[in-house]
Amino acid sequence: MEQQPAPRQKILLVDDTPTNLVILGDELQHEYEVFVATNGFHALKMVSTNPPDLILLDIMMPTMDGYEVCRRLKDDPETSGIPIIFITAMDAEEDEARGLEAGAVDYITKPFHLPIVRARVRTHMELKRKTDILQTLSSRDGLTGLFNRRRFDEVLDLEWRRAARKRQSLSLILLDIDEFKGYNDNYGHLAGDQCLQQVAAIMTSSLRRACDFLARYGGEEFVVVLPDTDVDQAICVAEQMRQAVAKQHIEHAFSHVAPYITISVGVVSSKPGYAIQHQELLELADQAMYRAKNSGRNCVVSRVLPHNST
Ligand code: GH3
Ligand code: MG
Ligand code: MG
Repeated sequence: MEQQPAPRQKILLVDDTPTNLVILGDELQHEYEVFVATNGFHALKMVSTNPPDLILLDIMMPTMDGYEVCRRLKDDPETSGIPIIFITAMDAEEDEARGLEAGAVDYITKPFHLPIVRARVRTHMELKRKTDILQTLSSRDGLTGLFNRRRFDEVLDLEWRRAARKRQSLSLILLDIDEFKGYNDNYGHLAGDQCLQQVAAIMTSSLRRACDFLARYGGEEFVVVLPDTDVDQAICVAEQMRQAVAKQHIEHAFSHVAPYITISVGVVSSKPGYAIQHQELLELADQAMYRAKNSGRNCVVSRVLPHNST
């Protein structure tokens, strides 16, 4: 198979002196995709819309200094993993110590020597690339390529908090392949693996929004997190998934449900302000899914959490 070239890594340069941005940008554009920001607010906005692999951050800037930019990025779980190198005229040891304690991976003093900047940037970009690879490996399921349960737990926690902050609904879909033991026993484990890959691909293509998150929960169970989605919309997505799998007519001559592969689906939606833990949401989705099993399989069962009046 042809190997795709690795995409160029992105670097964000933050400095209120345009000359510095030009000099650094000229040097670094040969190896990286370069983005620039001339103040802290602009930098934070750029990071949230187009996260870079590394940030070169000036400290002394009007309105918001580099320490504050660094603190805000480190406080947010979505940006805390982006390495930051301070590049500053503040050359006292205490300044450097403060910068490193704030979470920066390196500290370069001005006037800077370009070969040193280039070498240090390269080192941290290499580390970032390796960290990204490890992150991918530890968050993916090897068989289907979907996210794994570990990553699902993290995402559910993140989305749960985001939904509470923004006062939005959050829906969860849990689904399980029907009579999959019979499939494995009759067609063999290898065919079972291929069937799981097929079902994973069908589900991936039935999700439309970039923020919808699909993972393999375990064995032949899959889970979907749907942010800002009420129960009716979630049922619609679940029903589309159920139909998409059935329509594929993956032969299963030993199923008592249909002569092809089917899924049973549980849906649960939380409304804003309802005070339960996200683990309970998962348990309720599981209960809904088992109700779908008990209702003859190949169907969707939903549950809405009542409004909390407090
Ligand atoms: P139900 O309709 O109630 O869901 O019945 P089921 O047979 O699907 O459920 P059960 O939990 O009894 O069996 C699940 C089977 O899924 C058992 C196991 O062999 C199979 N399985 C789980 N993970 C994998 C996997 O990674 N590869 C393969 N090939 N099979 C798997
Ligand atoms: Mg099953
Ligand atoms: Mg199961």
